[in-house]
Amino acid sequence: MRIAILKRDKCQPKKCEQECVKYCPMVRTGAETIVLSGSAGGDGSGDGKPKISEELCEGCGICVKKCPFDAISIIGLPEELKGEETHRYGENGFVLYGMPIPKPGKVVGLVGENGTGKSTAIKILSGLQVPNLGSVEKVVEDEVVDAEAKGGWNAIIKKYAGSELQNYFNALQKDKIKVAYKPQNIDAIPKFFDGKVRELLESTDESGTGAGAGAGAGAGTGAGAVERLVKNFGLEEAVEREVKDLSGGELQRVAVVACLVRDADFYFFDEITPYLDIYQRVSVAKQIKESLCGDRDGDGNGEKSVVVVEHDLAVLDMLADYVHLLYGSPGEYGVVTMPKSTNRGINEYLSGFLQAENVRIRDKPIEFTAHPPREKQEARSVFIEYEGFEKSYGGVGGEGEGSEGVEGKGFVLAAKAGSVEKGEVLGVVGRNAIGKSTFLKVLAGETEPTAGAGGSGKVLLDIKISYKPQYVRGASEMSVKDFIYSLKLTDADAVEVLAPLGIRKLEEKQMKDLSGGELQSVAVAACLCQPADLYILDEPSAHLDVEQKVRLIKTVRRFAERRGVSMLVVDHDIYLIDLLSDRLMVFDGVPGVWGESKGCFGMQEGMNLFLQDLGVTFRRDLSTLRPRINKIGSAKDREQKAEGKYYYL
Ligand code: SF4
Ligand code: SF4
Repeated sequence: MRIAILKRDKCQPKKCEQECVKYCPMVRTGAETIVLSGSAGGDGSGDGKPKISEELCEGCGICVKKCPFDAISIIGLPEELKGEETHRYGENGFVLYGMPIPKPGKVVGLVGENGTGKSTAIKILSGLQVPNLGSVEKVVEDEVVDAEAKGGWNAIIKKYAGSELQNYFNALQKDKIKVAYKPQNIDAIPKFFDGKVRELLESTDESGTGAGAGAGAGAGTGAGAVERLVKNFGLEEAVEREVKDLSGGELQRVAVVACLVRDADFYFFDEITPYLDIYQRVSVAKQIKESLCGDRDGDGNGEKSVVVVEHDLAVLDMLADYVHLLYGSPGEYGVVTMPKSTNRGINEYLSGFLQAENVRIRDKPIEFTAHPPREKQEARSVFIEYEGFEKSYGGVGGEGEGSEGVEGKGFVLAAKAGSVEKGEVLGVVGRNAIGKSTFLKVLAGETEPTAGAGGSGKVLLDIKISYKPQYVRGASEMSVKDFIYSLKLTDADAVEVLAPLGIRKLEEKQMKDLSGGELQSVAVAACLCQPADLYILDEPSAHLDVEQKVRLIKTVRRFAERRGVSMLVVDHDIYLIDLLSDRLMVFDGVPGVWGESKGCFGMQEGMNLFLQDLGVTFRRDLSTLRPRINKIGSAKDREQKAEGKYYYL
């Protein structure tokens, strides 16, 4: 079975000589295998782009090689996928095969690379998009459920006859079930809602706030659901502010609360961790589970069904009962596997081989070790030492939660003197808004300390630093290629940084058109491609999908080892920190008020200190050694806390 994909954003018929048509051997025999739209036999859309007939195509691949803009893919797929199409985005567009299955009273997770159909699947399940079963003529893209589309639903219900999805789609189409949906792109919320956070939450609250009488997240609590969740999510101060003034982390939590207080049967969350620190991630996951999946009536079953897309595997491991993995080729096709237990699904994903499907998704497995690999090596020499310093913001608003300084309150960071060792990756951990980014900015020379550092205004002298800030912006009209090549690359940079981070594939794109994950990868590449003695990466995994994170970890680790350079990396993904770091710098404090660096520690000691503050324990998976969050209050959790072993045993 073969599919032909035309990447419409890349195809430029006015700038090429239509090589795809010219060189196709089938066209030469007179078959209409590739026809330009607007010409005889085309679709008449008039944009001049080709339409490729999958029935007539012989799969020789000549058009793929001849197209100067890399706009065509001809992909051979297993015959078993024939008839499994759920949705296709137009002629020669992306195809999604299979469908996740929501489970009553359970949390189902979706894991996979961006562009393989996770958001499409979740939109179909929430009724925001009518699937066309791969037949692009049947239903218009992005069609919203209405009377006209019911014909489409009948075909869908028939297709899933005899499966759990038949009942689900039947009930959805007849409005017998209610759904609540949290979108992925929370940055768009202020564009659609102009007002205070409290007004936003009251507009979505269907729980019987105050009386505890509704059926939503507040039911049976005796307290208003909004008030309870606002408190549990640490949003008391944010709730009276304008939605447009919220930081990313606050907006993410508000969006989750707005979804939780709906009175629905099925809840869909398209990512919950972006912008959140580890403490907030664990807390949000816990609240979702408690609010929606608790067995309130004591019949042994949870109340609601939840489907969640998530790229933080430690959080997904804690939250989900089952997972569906999605594999394929981003932007071309995606396949949803059958449900797997969460532990098995994540282990298979990390191993790179899906057993039941007999599919390899990655050349090499991602392997964890009980102790970080370089801890075993001989002691490293000290590379730089810095003096202690203070940095205070006198009541001036900062950049939001990721930075420090809340308007009218002020913020003080106290950093102890410390050192960075030669060739080490020093992980930096702590809650949001307690000074980590400020610390890095002072080290990078981006801002001056208020006191200390010998009064020189600079903490590190005479060393070259390359710094990637927390927030990266890509508003430029420049192409990725022009941007990257303006950095004076070496051959080693191209091989050790650009290729493994997947930048080559993005070169023709404009910087302003990059997705959040793509922009982050370009920013990390730009930082690593600067010659420097010390590299500082502030939240390099923000907005990355799981595969991009895997590429990032391998690239940064190899870069530090091969070049013998030192690195400081702030991040909130516990797998990334575990796999990357040699030592940990731990921050403590009260968000937005004060922060201090407690110093640098070995991995176990540092993680213990950090997790003790959060009240969260981790164990190691016996077969893969990956860290797993213990259920709070479980026997394992209690046992580890009693022994003071918050991180792996
Ligand atoms: S697919 Fe390639 S060769 Fe064909 S029209 Fe588009 S840009 Fe030109
Ligand atoms: S792969 Fe198909 S469409 Fe492309 S040149 Fe060969 S036969 Fe023609």
